[in-house]
Amino acid sequence: MGFRYVLGVDLDGVCADYNAGFRQVVASDRGIKPSELAPNRSWGFKEWGLDDGEFDRLHQKAVTEDRMLATLPVIDGCADVLWRLSDAGVWIRIITHRLYKNWGHATAVTDTVTWLDNAKIPYRDICFLGAKPEVEADLYIDDAPHNILGLRDAGNDVIVFDQSYNTDLAGPRASTWDEVEELAMSYVAKKSAVQPQLPGIDAGADRLGINTSPTPDST
Ligand SMILES: [Mg+2]
Repeated sequence: MGFRYVLGVDLDGVCADYNAGFRQVVASDRGIKPSELAPNRSWGFKEWGLDDGEFDRLHQKAVTEDRMLATLPVIDGCADVLWRLSDAGVWIRIITHRLYKNWGHATAVTDTVTWLDNAKIPYRDICFLGAKPEVEADLYIDDAPHNILGLRDAGNDVIVFDQSYNTDLAGPRASTWDEVEELAMSYVAKKSAVQPQLPGIDAGADRLGINTSPTPDST
C-alpha cells in the first residue's frame, strides 16, 4: 500500500475570503460603505452589530439571493500552494461546513464546486459537513475556533489560519499560504520519514530546493 498523506482544507476564512464577501452583503443591506464596518471582528460578528438571528438572515440572503459562495475572493496564494502540495504527493481533501444550516443546500453545493473550479484549486475529494469537524485527515487547516479546538481535542494536528477571531489559540499558525506550505511540508516530512515508499515526495523536495547531493570532495 502506497504512502498517502491527507491534508484537510477548510474553505471559508482559509481559501475563500468570507469576511470580504459578507462585509459587502452587510453593508449593502444597511446602505453603508463596507469600510464603515470594523476591519477586525470576533467569531460572533458583534463588532458589526449582528446577533445570531440577524447573522442567519443575512447569511441566508448572501447564499441564496446574492450567490456569494460562487463569487468570494480567493485568499492570496491558496491555489498555487495547493497545486505544489498536490504535486508533492499530498492528498487535498476540501472540507466545508457550509451545510450547517438546513436550507439552500443545492445552491451551496453548486456554488462551492463552481467557485473551486474558477479558483483553479485542486482537490481529490470534498466533504460537505454540518457540525462534525473530523474527516480522517492527517493534518487540518482551519480558522474556526470551535473546529480547531474540537479537532485537537480528538487528537488531530491542526494549523490555525490566522484571523482576528482566533488569535488566542495556540499554534502552529499560518498567516499566509506560503507559511501553510512550509508547515504542511514539515508535517509530511515527519510522517514520510517512517514510510518505506514515498511516491511523489521526491518531486516535492526538488521543488522546494532541498539539495541532497553529496558535498564535493576538495582533496
Ligand atoms: Mg472556516
